Amino acid sequence: MDQKPHIALLPSPGMGHLIPLVEFAKLLLLHHDFHITCIIPTTGSPSKAMKEVLQALPTSIDHVFLPPVNLEDLKGAKPGLQIRLTMTRSLPSLRDVLTSLVATTRLVALVVDPFGIDALDVAKELNVSPYIFFPTNAMVLSLVLNLPKLDETVSCEYRDLPEPVKLPGCIPIHGRDLIDPIQDRTSEWYKLYLRGTKQMRLAEGIVINTFMELDGNAITALEEEAKNLSLYTIGPIIQSGSSNQVEGSDCLRWLNNQPSGSVLFVCFGSGATLSYDQMNELALGLELSKQKFLWVVRSPNNELANAAYLADQTLDNNPLAFLPKGFIERTKEQGLVVPSWAPQAQVLSHNSTGGFLSHCGWNSTLESIMQGKPIIAWPLFAEQRMNAVLLTEVLKVALRPKANEKGLVDQEEIAKVIKGLMVGEEGKKVHNNMKNLKIAAEKALSPNGSSTKALADLASQWTNQPDF
Ligand code: UDP
Repeated sequence: MDQKPHIALLPSPGMGHLIPLVEFAKLLLLHHDFHITCIIPTTGSPSKAMKEVLQALPTSIDHVFLPPVNLEDLKGAKPGLQIRLTMTRSLPSLRDVLTSLVATTRLVALVVDPFGIDALDVAKELNVSPYIFFPTNAMVLSLVLNLPKLDETVSCEYRDLPEPVKLPGCIPIHGRDLIDPIQDRTSEWYKLYLRGTKQMRLAEGIVINTFMELDGNAITALEEEAKNLSLYTIGPIIQSGSSNQVEGSDCLRWLNNQPSGSVLFVCFGSGATLSYDQMNELALGLELSKQKFLWVVRSPNNELANAAYLADQTLDNNPLAFLPKGFIERTKEQGLVVPSWAPQAQVLSHNSTGGFLSHCGWNSTLESIMQGKPIIAWPLFAEQRMNAVLLTEVLKVALRPKANEKGLVDQEEIAKVIKGLMVGEEGKKVHNNMKNLKIAAEKALSPNGSSTKALADLASQWTNQPDF
């Protein structure tokens, strides 16, 4: 039997969940000579972007694809529910892989993404320590851990509550800004989600991709309340290097020719989409702002903002066709549009990039913080509205455009906020705050920093486990 301590990681489908977990795996190797296996549930063939990330991993990190599960009966269901059920339906094959790892290696821990919460039972059954990798911030974790209590005490929909919800150590937040799965309490998705939040307490520890300087109040309040749950605040963990160097080189070349800090990067994560009308307003707003931009354009979707979340983005074959007539020609000196995907980490680190119009996915948020780039917050789904509240109201590193009575952010508002960020006085303030937050993040990750210490604690917890 291989005596090296072995860790199994279980990400859920979607690049936004895979990327931080594999980066976490790489960081763990800096602390100890672990052997790591990423066990990946699938619904079909893995996307090109996913394969590239996995193939670039060091040899101590293996990956295994679980056989695809059938989601035929879930056509039209919310992507979150599809992800959750992909994980649940993968449990039998996960059990097989874990059983074989237990027989051949010293498997000390299974770390699961919250969508894979049911896998904690399998870990317990096989005598492997169950952990959760929580890929977003402490305010969201606080909501998740407090949801069973909220469910008992609140009788209406959370969005109809007259007062904001008060989570320990967090800014009061309106019910309509809480995460998507709890916005309809009559739905099956809500019931399943609520059950998952109760299961969170089965974990021996929760690893959180945030840092004390950003989220300290919420973390301390959680530690007070959840005394038997160890919290490891180890972030910001962000992607290192691009999965798409060659295809992304056009936009990097274009950036090379732009003045320092002049370009607004516009990107809505790995799969979010705008409605057709909203995409049109955004295009016209960018044009009206007269600021330089680099926009990752995705085909619009009028039904759901996260409809493309589970899709392979390289298959979105002609998103530029949806842009307003003549837009590309008119803005050819002002901006660059790229279809579907750009090497975001490199774009954000580029000297010409001065701001980021983002859907506030947590990975995008952390990547922006690490590069000190202020944000225009444009949340669309999942926990992104909570992230936007944190960024604009607590950290004050972002500006947020307002939607009109039809729910659209119109071109004038977009242009105003873009100018505000790129050349206005309020932009200077958020820029400054973001620079300070970047410094705080670097401190957390420095050799004596809070996140480095938390990761070292976790690694020693795993290496010192007795043999069984
Ligand atoms: N990403 C990228 N290029 C793109 C879009 C996204 O490299 O064109 C990466 C981005 O850098 C981040 C991840 O995909 O690491 C998106 O994660 P996030 O949590 O921000 O949003 P999600 O995709 O989960 O909505």
